[in-house]
Amino acid sequence: MTHSLRKPLIAGNWKMHLTLTESVRLAREVLGGAPHKVDVVLCPPFTALPAVAEVLRNSPVQLGAQDMFWESHGAYTGEVSSLHLKDVGCRYVLLGHSERRRYFGETDQQLQKKIHAAVAQNLVPILCVGETLEERQAEQTFAVLERQLITALTGFNPIQLSSLVVAYEPVWAIGTGRTATPQQAQEAHRFVRELLARQWGDPLAQSVRVLYGGSVKADNIDALMAERDLDGALVGGESLKPAAFLRIVHFHA
Ligand code: PEP
Repeated sequence: MTHSLRKPLIAGNWKMHLTLTESVRLAREVLGGAPHKVDVVLCPPFTALPAVAEVLRNSPVQLGAQDMFWESHGAYTGEVSSLHLKDVGCRYVLLGHSERRRYFGETDQQLQKKIHAAVAQNLVPILCVGETLEERQAEQTFAVLERQLITALTGFNPIQLSSLVVAYEPVWAIGTGRTATPQQAQEAHRFVRELLARQWGDPLAQSVRVLYGGSVKADNIDALMAERDLDGALVGGESLKPAAFLRIVHFHA
């Protein structure tokens, strides 16, 4: 059961799915059934952000982007900045999703710059970390999490990190239908929280929300959310299905 200091957060990552019309329809369906006791965040493709922002206006459901560049403006053809995201009404931004690391070569050092840009614009960064199957089998899970977190968060003080959200997403569980067991997830989440406590102090570690991501579904969310250090979920495939996503945001812990 989530610590009372931390409001649960469930984010839907729509990835490169859905047209503008489909995005607006899905946002309306989610909005109609979203609870208040949980922060719900929708992350549509960039092109749908303004239209989904319009649907979510004055509602408790928040808008997030799936990535951004670290410079605020300039000659960077094809990139989107923190200023653009604020301009269309984003409150959150996913950073370092494993698909970005894997297909676009995103590094922990680049993520440090992106987090800096997000914090400067008052965007809530959802920093995604997690090990591959090979790394887990080689018992490198904690070492990978430590490297990813320490490098991306170098140079920040606890005040700058006060809004930070971490998403623990084991790469082998993303889009595979293979979910981490609640015990595996809890072990990784506890490690993340202890690392944050060692580096930035206990008050920060107790307030940072650590989400689990990797094949979260309506039938496994309750068991995951029953674990002490799980504060919510980052949901991919199931966030595209309104009934399943609404069941997830109405989890019972
Ligand atoms: C994700 O994209 O972050 C994710 C966890 O995907 P899925 O829920 O489909 O595994």
